[in-house]
Amino acid sequence: MSAVAAPVSRVERALAGWLVERPPTVQRLPVAVLSREQKAAELARVQARKAMDAAYEAELVLGLADESPDDDDPAPGTPGARSWKPDAELPGVSEFFTAELALVLNCGRVAAGKRAHRAWIYRESLPATWAALAAGELDEYRAMTLVEVLQHTDPATARQVEARLLPRAAEWTAGMLRKRATELLLELDPHSAARRERQARRRADVRVYPSPQHGMATVAADLPPEVAAACFEVVDRLARMLKVDGDDRPIGELRCEVYAALLQRPWEHAGPPVTAHLQIVATLASLAGRSDECGEVNGLPITAAHLRDLLRQLDALGIGVPEGGSLTVGLTEEDGVLRATATLDQLRRLARRGCLDHPGTDCGCAVLDRPQPTDRYRPTAAQQRFVHTRDRTCRFPTCGQRVGCADADHVVPHTHGGPTDCANLCCMCRSHHRLKTHARGWRFQISDDGVLTVTTPSGITRTTRPPGMRPPPAAPDPPPEPTAPDHDPPPF
Ligand SMILES: [Zn+2]
Ligand SMILES: [Zn+2]
Repeated sequence: MSAVAAPVSRVERALAGWLVERPPTVQRLPVAVLSREQKAAELARVQARKAMDAAYEAELVLGLADESPDDDDPAPGTPGARSWKPDAELPGVSEFFTAELALVLNCGRVAAGKRAHRAWIYRESLPATWAALAAGELDEYRAMTLVEVLQHTDPATARQVEARLLPRAAEWTAGMLRKRATELLLELDPHSAARRERQARRRADVRVYPSPQHGMATVAADLPPEVAAACFEVVDRLARMLKVDGDDRPIGELRCEVYAALLQRPWEHAGPPVTAHLQIVATLASLAGRSDECGEVNGLPITAAHLRDLLRQLDALGIGVPEGGSLTVGLTEEDGVLRATATLDQLRRLARRGCLDHPGTDCGCAVLDRPQPTDRYRPTAAQQRFVHTRDRTCRFPTCGQRVGCADADHVVPHTHGGPTDCANLCCMCRSHHRLKTHARGWRFQISDDGVLTVTTPSGITRTTRPPGMRPPPAAPDPPPEPTAPDHDPPPF
């Protein structure tokens, strides 16, 4: 499997070029004509093919990684060098490779990193497992089980465990395989358990993700088991005390309330006040009675009358600036493209003042629009507000990380003549901002409406649209055939 670089002929290259252009195919048998035994046999063949594909995928991932050496990465101690040491990156491979793989596979960075790391482990530590996959003799799930247990030990030990278990691995359940591999590893490398624990601790984090319960989110923290048990014990005891005091809500609901209260400590007023930053988005068409003219408002000026109408609606809903926080109002076109943003104060001022050229009349001139470009490097406050309202999260395809109040990033760098204009600014999380600044061979383009197109050094292009923007309309239907006046109704 370890590819010895043989000279590649021009014919081979041309042939490979032709092959990768073709759409993928799968060998299928007509299921309806297969007997029961044939269906079962074909299912077994499909499992073998999946394993073979998994081995092939790992080979491709490693091949792509080899195209992305770390020579061009910012060297330690130079500007742009990262200040942290990553856990699972491939030695000698660019730190930006995982982001590239995520775009190629169209998956998140964590998932891409896991796949790259697994491929690396197959090659370095579990070559026989990799070969068994490639031959379709071992399924991917069992191979991944071996990777999981053996990825943190040295390659020599991993290969020893592999040599002992692989011949019978397919006979055991994945659970048994994991147990045997763990036991054998402990025997050969007694310190491996402590090392894995240390590594797990370094990767620990607190996470928030959508809960399967409707409208809820889950907070989770990775903790040593005894600490986790102690934390739960505290929450549970307090919840039971509430219950004894007569609160008859379900115990789960009480635990959740206790949990949130312990973390937020509403009884302590010493800390910094909790601030909220509200964003409200309104469609221009919904203002000043224009909703009847759907589709006709795009590009029309935002007038003082619009703003008065918007303020009336906000006041009617009782919406104001939260204490210590901020309120940004965004105005969008019918198709969701952001036209302008303003704070509540600005809205009131503009609505009162109206148009400067025609004071005291309802002239219909624009009083608010997209922020003007500036000559300076730093975006203006209005531009920051606009871009943050438009983008909401990191715009790198497959990312979606929340971004702080950091500067919006120039898509075409300022030093390369990129203007400080909303059409050349977008939100990037820190890690993708670094990639954009330091990784070689990437191309970034942004449209006037903020549609961002990213192309990897390997030529895969992905596009992200601002989250509020609706997808472009499908091609219009052909005009209906003119119908004769005496057309018979269809017979149904
Ligand atoms: Zn005017
Ligand atoms: Zn990002």
